[in-house]
Amino acid sequence: MTIKLGIIGYPLSHSLSKVMQEAALKDLGLEGTYEIMEVEPEDLIDKIKEIKCQNFTGFNVTIPHKVPVTVFLDEVDPLADISGSANTVKILPDRSFKGYNTDIYGFTQGFSEKQKNRLKGKKAAILGTGGAARAVAIGLNVIGVKEIDFYSRNVINASSMVNFLRENFPQTVFGVKQIQSLSNLSDVSVLINATPIGMRGQSMDLSPVEEKVLKTMRVGSIVYDIIYNPRTTKLLETAKKLDLETIDGTDMLVHQGAKAFEIWTGEKPDAAIMKMALLDSLAKW
Ligand code: NAP
Repeated sequence: MTIKLGIIGYPLSHSLSKVMQEAALKDLGLEGTYEIMEVEPEDLIDKIKEIKCQNFTGFNVTIPHKVPVTVFLDEVDPLADISGSANTVKILPDRSFKGYNTDIYGFTQGFSEKQKNRLKGKKAAILGTGGAARAVAIGLNVIGVKEIDFYSRNVINASSMVNFLRENFPQTVFGVKQIQSLSNLSDVSVLINATPIGMRGQSMDLSPVEEKVLKTMRVGSIVYDIIYNPRTTKLLETAKKLDLETIDGTDMLVHQGAKAFEIWTGEKPDAAIMKMALLDSLAKW
């Protein structure tokens, strides 16, 4: 049987998920397709109805549908439940939809085991308070980070998300600060950029943190930019120059995709093959 996969999002002119998922299908000798479905927010209901009637195995969900899609789910895994968002949907034999959040898993896979151990009980700073920032915060909780400060350009808007996290993760201390006030990171063991600042096509020449602020980080601290295009953002370039440990967004992207593939097909794909396909595609930009 052909495995029918796809992604819904808007805009979606170029999806790196397609090249990764098709590489995994090919490597495992599975017959399948991965369709890019650009869906504007007002068309989401119709698209979901259409997908239900077709023979899809499952699909990925990206911006801006990760939260709205949860309304159409019949069942959710614990991480999709706690994050209130799903990036992966599996269509069960009775055509019901089960939602998963594999971004959280993907994010944690970006760290080495050594780094994860080092971060237990430590403090993190997250730039941004959008969907990805929430997944990052949950991932940091899974690792065992004990204190998280969010840096937002709108502290009031961020407060409902932070209150939600405080209720669900009472063992962790959460704070929200104005991003413009960021001046000292000396007590932070890991800094994560979950804003689009530094992304190709938007603000590739910008960094969300000034060099003099990054300089306050201690030796052995980690700077993790979840942006994957470009692979080395301005932020990571400066962090490398300062001899800080760096992690880019490619492993997060690969591992969220590998986990989704496993959920849909029951087969564990080779993440290295998926990463090679992703890097080949990124090199063409
Ligand atoms: P989002 O929901 O739109 O959230 C973006 C956040 O960044 C919001 O808090 C926004 O603030 C803030 N922000 C935007 N521009 C800013 C600026 N100039 N100054 C300060 N804050 C700013 O987007 P998202 O889904 O969380 O994605 C964020 C980034 O993560 C994107 O670059 C995306 O590509 C990346 N990402 C990577 C992966 C991966 O697998 N590697 C997965 C998901 C996302 P407001 O709330 O005030 O607008």
